[in-house]
Amino acid sequence: MHEYPAVEQIVKIALRTAGEHHAKRVIAVNIAIGELTGFAEESLQFYFDIMKKETTLTDTVLNIRYITPQLKCSKCGHIFERAGRSFDCPECGGKSAPTTHGTEFFIENIEIETEE
Ligand SMILES: [Zn+2]
Repeated sequence: MHEYPAVEQIVKIALRTAGEHHAKRVIAVNIAIGELTGFAEESLQFYFDIMKKETTLTDTVLNIRYITPQLKCSKCGHIFERAGRSFDCPECGGKSAPTTHGTEFFIENIEIETEE
């Protein structure tokens, strides 16, 4: 359910960008999401499909790229992608802590078609 306001923002930004560039139509909106946000792809698509029908984004595609969380070892400083639920450093076996990698939520780019 917390995907709803996030998708609302995406739609708002896509429409504003389309307006600024006098776009004929918006082909695709490409977003990046850290896995730690807990945003489910199917929910994002679900809300996007509902909202776009009420706008000029009726045939716009939402592309989602997930970013794997990264951990940093508190012992040796090694940065690595989380494998499963383990927080152990693959280099030295030390305990690691989460970094900001994996909490992202942003629009990478918006593909638009303009009048020639
Ligand atoms: Zn380590």
